[in-house]
Amino acid sequence: MRKKIVAGNWKMNKNYTEGMSLFSEVLNMVKDEVMGNQQVVVCAPFVHLHSLTALGKGHSQVSVGAQNVHQEESGAYTGEISASMLKSLDVEYVILGHSERRQYFGETNELLAKKTDITLKHGLKPIFCIGETLTERESGQYFNIVKSQLVEGTFHLSAAEFSKLVIAYEPVWAIGTGVTASSDQAQEIHAFIRKEIAIKYSQAVADDTTILYGGSCNPKNADELFSQPDIDGGLIGGASLKSRDFVDIAKVFNS
Ligand code: PEP
Repeated sequence: MRKKIVAGNWKMNKNYTEGMSLFSEVLNMVKDEVMGNQQVVVCAPFVHLHSLTALGKGHSQVSVGAQNVHQEESGAYTGEISASMLKSLDVEYVILGHSERRQYFGETNELLAKKTDITLKHGLKPIFCIGETLTERESGQYFNIVKSQLVEGTFHLSAAEFSKLVIAYEPVWAIGTGVTASSDQAQEIHAFIRKEIAIKYSQAVADDTTILYGGSCNPKNADELFSQPDIDGGLIGGASLKSRDFVDIAKVFNS
């Protein structure tokens, strides 16, 4: 059975002290309140990761993720962070292709295919983000856009490699806007993504792929979204900055 995941994306928020406090709160709440097999992932700024993996040791239900990685192994890339550096800190997940990276840092599907490769090569799990802009949704192109992001970023992988990915569908118009996709809108595209994976790989690979929804998800709407058959959890931005809200979202999967 595919894994249920609630992943937080802190983005460029929380200084070191604030980050340690927030993560400690999340750890304690998860330990006391999260009952089930769901995985909780915290994707924090690079400078926090070493301390977070140390704090999280022994808490198997909580994993630590990065928000980006460089596509090369090592070398003269001032200011960049490599996959092997992340691996050496016991980081488990890496967000790739977040719409903010596509929009503000010019990340293309071609570049993201390389980042996916290096991430997998070093034994890290990509959370690969796809999603359309408002213009693309309104013009009815959203199936094509999402499909091309998926195909160009990930479909060069073997089935065994693809099976290590988590996909996050994040409509750009819903990120940080307070506007959430309706559960029907989200389910429609999640089912489409799963169908494309089945066509490319197999029904078994598609059935095992965790597909997260992201975009203004909060404790009030998470239940409705996560009850859809093809939505396996969420990638949470704003609400992951408040331990109570974030853990309440993870508790939707309590059994
Ligand atoms: C995100 O940035 O991945 C995200 C989903 O943000 P928010 O929850 O704030 O819309």
